[in-house]
Amino acid sequence: MYEQDMQRNETIFGKILRGEIPCNKVYEDEHILAFHDISPAAKVHALVIPKKLISSVNEASEDDLTLLGHLQTKIPEIAQLAGCDKHGYRVITNVGPNAGQEVFHIHYHILGGEKLSGLNPKL
Ligand code: 5GP
Repeated sequence: MYEQDMQRNETIFGKILRGEIPCNKVYEDEHILAFHDISPAAKVHALVIPKKLISSVNEASEDDLTLLGHLQTKIPEIAQLAGCDKHGYRVITNVGPNAGQEVFHIHYHILGGEKLSGLNPKL
């Protein structure tokens, strides 16, 4: 269904979607893939991506309502599979340089498995 998007996805996540580099998979269906982050920022750190090529929240459009709604409503199940659903977790998506976005294929970080520090890095 997303074959063309997957072929032209030049990001590292494109390589993961095509199976060119391995990932530690948490969940997959027709529309999305979730896997553990290679450099975890918390005890549990998973990433959820759509198979459709969307660079960031900035590039999401009304056409993506169903897809991104599906992704978001799957997050509790993915958090459970990753083992961080019991005591809460954080969901983040970085957009652009000020947020430190490194991979320009939209992804949602799921962070948990421990008490997380506050959101404001200046505090
Ligand atoms: P960003 O900074 O763009 O929001 O997040 C990109 C995330 O992708 C980072 O947390 C980084 O550790 C993760 N990442 C980068 N390359 C790979 C990889 O090859 N495999 C996995 N599993 N995660 C990666």
